[in-house]
Amino acid sequence: MPVRGLAELTWPEVGGIDRERAVAILPIGAIEAHGPHLPLATDVIIAEAMARTGAEKLSTRGMDVLLLPTLTYTPAPFAADFPGTMMLDPTALTGSIRSIAESLGRHDFDLLALANGHLDPAHLAAIRAAVEQVHGAGQVRIVFPDVTQRPWATRLTAEFKSGACHAGRYETSIVLAVRPELVREQLLRTLPPNARSLAAAIAAGQTSFVEAGGPRAYFGYPAEATADEGTSTITVLGAILEEAIMIELARSAG
Ligand SMILES: [Zn+2]
Repeated sequence: MPVRGLAELTWPEVGGIDRERAVAILPIGAIEAHGPHLPLATDVIIAEAMARTGAEKLSTRGMDVLLLPTLTYTPAPFAADFPGTMMLDPTALTGSIRSIAESLGRHDFDLLALANGHLDPAHLAAIRAAVEQVHGAGQVRIVFPDVTQRPWATRLTAEFKSGACHAGRYETSIVLAVRPELVREQLLRTLPPNARSLAAAIAAGQTSFVEAGGPRAYFGYPAEATADEGTSTITVLGAILEEAIMIELARSAG
């Protein structure tokens, strides 16, 4: 089965999908400042690339994959003061994910996977709350491979693991691979490194990019980004999504 976008189908087409082999994938991004060189939708681009790549892998395993429209508004308090960042209340995100799962359940789809590209702790907490609520309701199985946690985090690049993982080499490489026309490349190559770790800043109780030592809303080594690294990171992200879903299928079959 080719991968299909839910929003492009008609209701009789959705009605005819074999529920036994179906999985819905929800990309989750953000509209958030990503340095002076990347678009606000960077995490949307990353989440959609992860979702598409994972979906293609699952489809070659005979699954019928539905790509849901991306959730783009979300909590982004670390970037809140930068022009253009859009903020959603965390409970609104939790409720949105829960309601999407309930809608799928109403139509007899019982497997939902989240492809998340945004790493703000408030956002991650809101997703975890939704996952717990969906688990608790017991109607739809929900899969959320959190790339900031083991085992998944260990598969990603050194810069990502260092915690300097916002608009640096890791994220810039992905945008260079998927939407190069959106990267302000001349500016990018002049950006000095910013090795500060956001993970350390969060642990120290800091709550904004500026406080964390990122006055231009980037961390890491963006000038070192390459499209090749982006392509291989997307492959890894897609494999993580595929594996998380296969683990869930094996668990619920066993
Ligand atoms: Zn990002």
